Amino acid sequence: MQPHTPPAAPPPRTYSATLKESRRITPPASREEVRHLVFHTGDLSFDPQLGNLIRVMAPGQFGNRSHARLYSIMDLERRGNATEFAICVRRCSYIDDFNGEEYKGIASNYLCDLRPDEGINFAGPVGYPFVIPEDKSADILMLAMGTGIAPFRTLIRQIYEKIGGWQGRVRLFYGAKSPLEMLYMNDENNDLANYFDQPTFKAFQAVSPRPAFDAPVAMDQALAQNAAEVWEMLKRPDTRVFIAGTENMLPVIDKAMGELAGSSREWASVHAALVSSKRWSEVVY
Ligand SMILES: Cc1cc2nc3c(=O)[nH]c(=O)nc-3n(C[C@H](O)[C@H](O)[C@H](O)COP(=O)(O)OP(=O)(O)OC[C@H]3O[C@@H](n4cnc5c(N)ncnc54)[C@H](O)[C@@H]3O)c2cc1C
Repeated sequence: MQPHTPPAAPPPRTYSATLKESRRITPPASREEVRHLVFHTGDLSFDPQLGNLIRVMAPGQFGNRSHARLYSIMDLERRGNATEFAICVRRCSYIDDFNGEEYKGIASNYLCDLRPDEGINFAGPVGYPFVIPEDKSADILMLAMGTGIAPFRTLIRQIYEKIGGWQGRVRLFYGAKSPLEMLYMNDENNDLANYFDQPTFKAFQAVSPRPAFDAPVAMDQALAQNAAEVWEMLKRPDTRVFIAGTENMLPVIDKAMGELAGSSREWASVHAALVSSKRWSEVVY
């Protein structure tokens, strides 16, 4: 008998969209520039869901046709014959180790410099990592770093504004380099404060003790300060754990969870149960 190979999924389609609005969401005093960009497309075959990713094709450099990078879709709305969606982009740059010069990240600078009415090409949608459970009594633990907050802001809004009557606990642990970089929880934009009076919602900020460095952010301390509740949530059979943000948060979370569990072995077994029951989802970059 020939081995059966499942048919490959079709490649994501490509689309174009026009920028409607670009707004900085970090305060002027912050060294980080993060922008909330709203796009408009008249191509109704683009039918994403919140939390999907799009692969933006920025103009390429050094002879490459394009430079593709992933961004999470946050706000999403059908308006008549068009779809409006938003992404949240951090302007990246890096210092070359060899010559000490600063270089701009290609796609993030392209997006942050776009002007209203200019267009982008992108492929997608891909992935749907954070699915709100149907059972409103399920607990949800969200761990975010930096722009990783973007999909959670949308999920929290869906839970409290669209679904309503949520009985499970929703806990957000959010790490940033300094209070100025707490996206959607700063003086410029404090969207998340709209939900602080919800009895089932709590947000914990984890700010780096060393703001000049990327890591470690005090995510481990924030988890340790809430150890009893987090551990109890993790052991419930219906709890979802959602993680989004920079890759360097994973070892910090792993170590913190090992300490909550009392041993890395105990944590490994709880983690394995969460993964195998598809209750652990992460988007890290
Ligand atoms: C699943 C997923 C979801 C994502 N979602 C978001 C999102 O919602 N919002 C968001 O802002 N980003 C998101 N990202 C990150 C995004 O895709 C890009 O990686 C990011 O914007 C940087 O792309 P760039 O083209 O600007 O930088 P690039 O030009 O690709 O450079 C990327 C970075 O690599 C490093 N680098 C590159 N070359 C060198 C070098 N020679 N020496 C030293 N360092 C170097 C630098 O840190 C630089 O900033 C996501 C990534 C993934 C994988």
